[in-house]
Amino acid sequence: MKNNLLFLLVFAISACGSNTEEIPFGNEILTPIEIKEFKGNPRNIILIIGDGTGLNQISLSRMAIVGESSKLYIDQLPFSGISLTHSADSIITDSAAAATSWATGHKTNNRYVSVSPQKKSLPTLPEMLYKKGFLSGIVATSSITHATPAAFYSHVDYRYKEKEIASQLQSSDISIALGGGTDFFNTSIHKDNIDYIFDVTDLNKIEPPYAKKILGLFDSDGINRSPENPTQLLMTKTALHILSQKTSKCSGFFLMSEGSQIDWASHDNDAKKMIEEFRDFDLTIGAAINFVNSRDDTLLIITSDHETGGLQILNQAEGNIIIQWGTGSHTGIPVGVFSYGPGAGIFTGTMDNTDIHYKILDALNYSDIPDSSC
Ligand SMILES: [Zn+2]
Repeated sequence: MKNNLLFLLVFAISACGSNTEEIPFGNEILTPIEIKEFKGNPRNIILIIGDGTGLNQISLSRMAIVGESSKLYIDQLPFSGISLTHSADSIITDSAAAATSWATGHKTNNRYVSVSPQKKSLPTLPEMLYKKGFLSGIVATSSITHATPAAFYSHVDYRYKEKEIASQLQSSDISIALGGGTDFFNTSIHKDNIDYIFDVTDLNKIEPPYAKKILGLFDSDGINRSPENPTQLLMTKTALHILSQKTSKCSGFFLMSEGSQIDWASHDNDAKKMIEEFRDFDLTIGAAINFVNSRDDTLLIITSDHETGGLQILNQAEGNIIIQWGTGSHTGIPVGVFSYGPGAGIFTGTMDNTDIHYKILDALNYSDIPDSSC
């Protein structure tokens, strides 16, 4: 009997140890960036989302890219807080309900996109801001019709209705949308007011006068990493450039940019891929910090919809980080909120994901902005 117990104990310990993984420490040096102080209200909002990016995804990426004692760009933002993530019907949210909370300020059921649990359409930030003379842009490394980007411009009761979401994007007031997803679009329609772009060469060549709407679709579904495809960094820099030019005489702009595939790599428990996706996300944050620094009217907020994979950092051994994944699904632990620019100081403490919507409106002083068009 004792021998059996001993055998079970040894078996349990070795089974536990067998799914740990070793990731080498990194020592890259990032281009230094200046952090300034800002006053007043912003006129532009940049919301950067790391899908599935919990604090452990950030920590592991820090250790694997720059080393544990150095800072990524996300670590340099002067204000931070914690966001709760549960949805209306689950302690474990999905991207649709989480993005609905930021876009509309309301909790909804998992898989619902900017509709209430009763399936009533809820106004989104870009829709609310458009009436006040703002333009909006959406960037994602998934299809641009995936749950997170979709919640900012569409209203459906099931996130996988991507063709319906695509058609709602084409008739929405979004000025620029860059991501994947040609599979879901009929690009022969709305040709007179939408400039369709299908490759990175054309994205790099884009110049004024800009079409009323720019829709860049760079892959059939999510964007595969290849030299022919744009990164989150390139798409975000392009969107920022165009939105700032188009709104120079308007109220301002709102840009949501998502590193979508940090989540996908975490579902696959693929740490190396997760870190590669995170690198693009962090470089995007670096570019956004530089944009904020180049003027005094832009607020940058970074958060995540949920953690994915139950990633744990367990130990270190001979130049490696020892990690372990707990699940192939999302988890219910809170995520970080990081901010920079005028108004950034209100995104601190513990907040609900819906609070981020209202804090953005407060930062803009939304209720005092008169109706106008851009
Ligand atoms: Zn996911």
